[in-house]
Amino acid sequence: MNSPTPDRYAVLGHPVAHSRSPFIHAQFAQQTGQSLVYERVDCPPGSFKAAVQAFAASGGRGCNITVPNKFEAAALARHVCPRAALAGAANVLHFAADGWQAYNTDGLGLLRDIQTGAGRPLQGQQVLLIGAGGAGAGVLGPLLQARPASVQVANRTAETAQNLVQRHQAWATEHGAKLSATTLAATDAAYDIVINASASSLQGATSPVPAAVFAPGALAIDLMYGPAAQPWLDWARLHGAVPRDGLGMLVEQAAEAFWLWRGVRPDTAPVLLALRQEFQQGMRENLRDNLREPLREAD
Ligand code: NAP
Repeated sequence: MNSPTPDRYAVLGHPVAHSRSPFIHAQFAQQTGQSLVYERVDCPPGSFKAAVQAFAASGGRGCNITVPNKFEAAALARHVCPRAALAGAANVLHFAADGWQAYNTDGLGLLRDIQTGAGRPLQGQQVLLIGAGGAGAGVLGPLLQARPASVQVANRTAETAQNLVQRHQAWATEHGAKLSATTLAATDAAYDIVINASASSLQGATSPVPAAVFAPGALAIDLMYGPAAQPWLDWARLHGAVPRDGLGMLVEQAAEAFWLWRGVRPDTAPVLLALRQEFQQGMRENLRDNLREPLREAD
């Protein structure tokens, strides 16, 4: 039975202003009749641990963790699920009475979006994973489990990619996938699936990899979504790839978190559709405003 006061959840990280998680969880709650509220908690550098403790102490039931705190979140929990343990990173915390539980639902979200949303198999594919931060670490184990021919991890800091690869080597062998690390500059092969799990789009930076990474018709996924993801996705399309933003993954990983917290599985399709319509409307309005400006200047 639902409690009279709604249960509290939140997304913690920095930045969080752009996060659509509050909208997604509000939709899930409405759909399934769950009584909850979901907030954003911005955690400037150095404040994450205190912020998550304060949120739990003030009655929070659980939270999502976003950039750049996923490694720290995993280290705060007493019980760490196997997926989060392999990644060393968590994107979901549940404040259980017998100790905090840490989970990682990013990889399941990405897999569902690639295989069901985009309709692309992963088995036998050559995959490039750009980024070895919390998101890259979270998705690598589930990606390998889908039995691609190979996964190459490229990161700005080479050593971080090497450490991540080393930690997953036995897992890769178990699933018949070749796994290696490389630098951003050395990504000169062509891949079937290119996943930008770096924060380059969030920061408005140019593509971290050259266009040669796209095999003809390659799937190019940026885990970022909204206007910030658009330049990289447009650039990927220009170079023969099929672009896909991180919205599908966002909704799928959220559904998995919702299930962990509430024991109910929401329907993701209408929520993804509503988000896509919202972003398309925003892009149309931006375009209209940009077209109006030169006319005003000409007046
Ligand atoms: P993070 O832990 O801070 O890691 C950032 C990663 O990006 C690191 O590998 C870092 O490399 C790399 N990086 C940062 N700036 C870069 C640049 N200008 N060029 C190339 N590489 C750069 O962040 P995170 O949690 O992994 O998140 C990464 C992105 O994924 C964010 O945009 C986040 O919003 C998105 N995300 C989306 C979803 C979703 O559901 N759609 C889920 C998770 C994450 P170094 O190691 O060299 O610092």
